[in-house]
Amino acid sequence: MQSDELRNIDNEHVWHPFTQMQGHRDEEVPIIESGDGFFLIDTDGRSYLDGVSSLWCNVHGHRVPELDQAIRAQLDQIAHSTLLGLASVPSIELAEELVKRTPADLTKVFYSDSGSTAVEIALKMAFQYHANKSPADSQTRDLFACMQHAYHGDTIGSVSVGGISIFHQIFGKLLFESVQIPCPVAYHRPEGYTEESYLEFCFAELERLLAENHERLAAFVIEPLVQGAAGMLMHPAGYLKRVRELTRQYGIPLIADEVAVGLGRTGTMFACEQEGVTPDFLCLAKGITGGYLPLAVTMATDEIAAAFEGAHTDYNAFYHGHTYTGNSLACAAALATLKLFDENRTLDNVRETSAVLTQRLAELKEHPYVGEIRHKGVMVGIELVADRETRTAFPAELRLGHQVTLAARKNGVIVRPLGDVVILMPAPGMPAELVEQLCDTVFAAIDEAI
Ligand code: PLP
Repeated sequence: MQSDELRNIDNEHVWHPFTQMQGHRDEEVPIIESGDGFFLIDTDGRSYLDGVSSLWCNVHGHRVPELDQAIRAQLDQIAHSTLLGLASVPSIELAEELVKRTPADLTKVFYSDSGSTAVEIALKMAFQYHANKSPADSQTRDLFACMQHAYHGDTIGSVSVGGISIFHQIFGKLLFESVQIPCPVAYHRPEGYTEESYLEFCFAELERLLAENHERLAAFVIEPLVQGAAGMLMHPAGYLKRVRELTRQYGIPLIADEVAVGLGRTGTMFACEQEGVTPDFLCLAKGITGGYLPLAVTMATDEIAAAFEGAHTDYNAFYHGHTYTGNSLACAAALATLKLFDENRTLDNVRETSAVLTQRLAELKEHPYVGEIRHKGVMVGIELVADRETRTAFPAELRLGHQVTLAARKNGVIVRPLGDVVILMPAPGMPAELVEQLCDTVFAAIDEAI
């Protein structure tokens, strides 16, 4: 089919996510037909550097021979069989590998298929954990703590613990109650605070809100170190550790949502490692299959899982499961992805490219419209503001972040902004010279758009 014909059908029938469809139709977005390493190629043969890892999930590139081969080999065995009443070879092998690589104590692996479901499952498991331990607790442990500006996905549960107001407003009536903990990021502090006094306030509020609500809290859910979809908001050192100390003190299970930050993105395999934290639940998705196939896991400790042990007549099993839970092709892709982390020394590459990013981002430090640059590993947010002094945003209707995206795309680089925060998310395996190309194009696009 020709590009025009495909585009007509896309415009007519494909309902794109998080997309105002009129704008999508007007813009004539590229229709991707193939991939090659870290590039995407459209139906007109144009090639684009994949600057946000295909929405933060690509790890080793596209059409990676080892990954392609692992999926083909699995296809020769079987594509899918259920985990309800049966087990499967790749899901067993992957569980063993994940338990080996994640922080100690996380010994149980529950499979699903997206970041949202990984979080949804952790929330439901935490809720049922209390109910199983003490039925009275299912009546009283009905509250979740989450971070202001958090994003944990789009199911009703994961939106309930999200803090991005535009996603909340419309579904407000359907959501359950949560306690929002102030986000310890000084750049967005309210009037009247200095950077230091705002961080002090955030730590004090964390303590106060947990102390006040601990008897009702079923769990505390957090994106460790970096709140990605909020615009790469980065917590100060020691914050996650403090969250862990307090949640332990009050007996509140901690859910670490590493859907975005896991799998090498922050410079270590898992972000929790950087603060020596073991959560009670760990949620992974996105990069787990190298960005090839939908797969997610919710990992839990023995202590959590023990509350679900019992005889058939105890009816305390975890009442949740999806048709494609533990899909064999996806598990095979995940196993091959983890193997490549070792073979390609991908974490070393992240450290190298992170150093390149540090060096290149310094060029923007004095830029008159760059308010703050936030960077960790291969996660970057460049916040554009109309006035650096007052940290005043550009008028929203300018859609400046989006204009940067269009300018970059014209010059062969795909990025996707979060409002006026320009996001760079090179794949953990992207070589340094391509990271340089990403910076060259996006920095020029910022100047072109303003
Ligand atoms: N949690 C975090 C931290 C995320 O960044 C995302 C997606 O960006 C999700 C959960 C939801 O993942 P998915 O889009 O796979 O449902």
